[in-house]
Amino acid sequence: MSQATSATPPIVSLRGVHKYYGTYHALRGVDLDIGSGEFFSLLGPSGCGKTTLLRTIAGFEDISQGTLLLSGQDMRGVPANKRPTNMVFQSYAIFPHLTVAENVAFGLRRRRDLDKRAKGALVDEALEMAGLDGFGPRAAHALSGGQRQRVALARALILKPKVLLLDEPLSALDKKLREQMQNELRRLQRHVGITFILVTHDQEEALIMSDRIAVMFEGEIAQLADPQTLYRRPLSRRVANFIGTMNFLPARVNGDMLDIAGLGRATVKPDQAPGGMPSGDGHIGIRPETMSILFEGDATPAQTANGKVVELAYYGDMTYYDVLLDDTETPVTVSMKNLVGRRVLERGDRARISWDERSLVVFS
Ligand code: ATP
Repeated sequence: MSQATSATPPIVSLRGVHKYYGTYHALRGVDLDIGSGEFFSLLGPSGCGKTTLLRTIAGFEDISQGTLLLSGQDMRGVPANKRPTNMVFQSYAIFPHLTVAENVAFGLRRRRDLDKRAKGALVDEALEMAGLDGFGPRAAHALSGGQRQRVALARALILKPKVLLLDEPLSALDKKLREQMQNELRRLQRHVGITFILVTHDQEEALIMSDRIAVMFEGEIAQLADPQTLYRRPLSRRVANFIGTMNFLPARVNGDMLDIAGLGRATVKPDQAPGGMPSGDGHIGIRPETMSILFEGDATPAQTANGKVVELAYYGDMTYYDVLLDDTETPVTVSMKNLVGRRVLERGDRARISWDERSLVVFS
């Protein structure tokens, strides 16, 4: 199945969407379908247009050209508050002088059709969904960062939007709390079953949380795929470099046969060149964890190469070695688990590397 289309009927559908700020071309022809119940991420470096795309879906920005459908309906001229979407912002605008319950109930301010009891029941339900059971009477100013984020989520969910838009919602939290909230957000999304669209510049966050990810550069979608496809079969060197770490080595390409600088000969399958198999000069990409350093007593695998350790970084559980392969100019990074009894090499040591042609990706 093509990962460019969602498995379920699209709830968000964009065709040929362009956005200009004056003469600045912020979105350059975006085509995108997002399915009902998907956890979808827009990932890219600062300034690539991901927030602009989210804001056009929300209705905070007009589209300069193209169409946007939500649940099959054209959104041209439809204001933000009439769309089936709601947004959670990076800086969670909590009112410190109100209680948690009052903050959440603020999401219902336009619902004149509901009486006090009905509103109270909705607030309780939203608090429970966001993991804030019993927090209703608490003063909002006394909450931790993670709890504030939950209040913002509860306030957005209380309106039961079909699509929840999240603009870097976790970026203000410290690392530990961010990891915890990533798991919770994912669980919450599965529980409520509505579509989440997350904007993030954190590739790990996108990989952990998403069903599918659109990687954006300069106002365009460079690749749209599920996390494993993005990581294992990046379409370009640029995408490969943005998602994790990848080593690149020059290679001569002849059909499915490669001659790789520092590594030697390899044979690859067509799907290992997701952007198309080059002919003649190309590059291969290889991830640090798909190579190993061989130690005495290890069985000798079919594909090996020799080099010298020029730098290393010891992380406790892992060591990252920069190894300059013989007859090459740029070191490759090899990551090794620090298993019991395995020694850590030193700078200047010779190193024998094992690698596997099945893990190569070929680029033009
Ligand atoms: P970040 O992660 O830094 O928020 P982003 O990928 O979300 O980046 P956008 O906020 O979508 O990027 O901005 C895309 C480009 O459009 C940027 O170059 C930005 O300066 C420009 N831009 C955004 N909003 C406006 C505006 N209101 N007027 C003019 N230019 C804008």
